[in-house]
Amino acid sequence: MMVDAAGRVDAARYVASPNCDERPCGEAITLLVLHNISLPPGEFGGDAIEHLFTNELDPASHPYYRGLSGVRVSAHFLIRRTGELLQFVPCAKRAWHAGASAWCGRNGCNDFSIGIELEGADDVPYTDSQYRLLAELARALRRAYPIADIAGHSDIAPSRKTDPGPSFDWQRFRSSIG
Ligand SMILES: [Zn+2]
Repeated sequence: MMVDAAGRVDAARYVASPNCDERPCGEAITLLVLHNISLPPGEFGGDAIEHLFTNELDPASHPYYRGLSGVRVSAHFLIRRTGELLQFVPCAKRAWHAGASAWCGRNGCNDFSIGIELEGADDVPYTDSQYRLLAELARALRRAYPIADIAGHSDIAPSRKTDPGPSFDWQRFRSSIG
């Protein structure tokens, strides 16, 4: 797996999201943030996540989606339960995944992080394919950027967020990236 100069990963299917902007000038990428997402919550498969990140989610297609109307979010990557890798924002740009957040005394984690969404839920085990691909992606990103830490969304926004949840096996993940 290779990361090019703009921060695009060759192994990913690229779906461009408009929900991004420039990182602060000279900002280094030092943090990976792991998330989970499923739409509707707890249901897997389908293309609703892609639609959310590209502002094409039809609010009429599910009651839950009405509350997401006008929401502008993205992540750099999504790892489907099948192990498919999607990229929405090049790593050189700032994706809108973390919201109000802080890590090691610094606010606004979007400025200096890469966001990786795992298709899943807090209480449902992730798939072997996801762990395998996540490890490969994390290793590739660590070769490309000076990443010092890997945290969950729940670590950087503990009062608001619970993902990736107790179902994420941090020990398995950390041992897989060496
Ligand atoms: Zn999250």
